[in-house]
Amino acid sequence: MFISETYFHLDQPVEVIEEIRKAFTDLAELINTPADIEYFMGLQESFAPAINAGIEDCVIMIMPADILASAVSTHGGAILAYSRNAMTGTPIIMVSREAMRELDAKAMEALVFHELVHKDQDERGDLSITLEGIDWKGEVSPLAEVGQRMQDAMAQYEDLEPTEASLLAICETMPWELEAYAKSYEYAQTTGADTTWSPSIMERVIALYHRVMA
Ligand SMILES: [Zn+2]
Repeated sequence: MFISETYFHLDQPVEVIEEIRKAFTDLAELINTPADIEYFMGLQESFAPAINAGIEDCVIMIMPADILASAVSTHGGAILAYSRNAMTGTPIIMVSREAMRELDAKAMEALVFHELVHKDQDERGDLSITLEGIDWKGEVSPLAEVGQRMQDAMAQYEDLEPTEASLLAICETMPWELEAYAKSYEYAQTTGADTTWSPSIMERVIALYHRVMA
């Protein structure tokens, strides 16, 4: 279980709450239903020190899966997402409440690792989400275009089941996701986490990643 006693609900201190309110104001345009969102931050006892170091400066927002999905339109089935408050610069990790209930700590850690790859991409200046769209290494693509490219790429994977087809299409058309999926899978393997993806699909993702990196 993701929530433990090591997580503390943010009913204090006031300046942290203010920071989160500001963060949420930015996200409000993306998330149409502001109700039913909880805010937590803090370190997780079961996580590796490196993961805890990564989330230390993040605000973690826990929300119903459908609200999260509408906030991140390029990923229909998102269970975690990374963003950054444009005003304050605070990194934000959004987590689906349903995923928190369903996933064990190791699986959750691997997913948090995925989001920390995006945080790293952001911090090293490769990835940013702007009003114009997604900026990857200086090339800006409107969100609709990113989604369309992904849909087009799915056609070549008609023989696969839809979730696997969309994973490959995402990795092929969104280099930031390719890196995050490849690195988090490699991380999951070191911790023995069950990632839900079949090894045969992930081998294709890893191969693509090494080809692109080469
Ligand atoms: Zn991602």
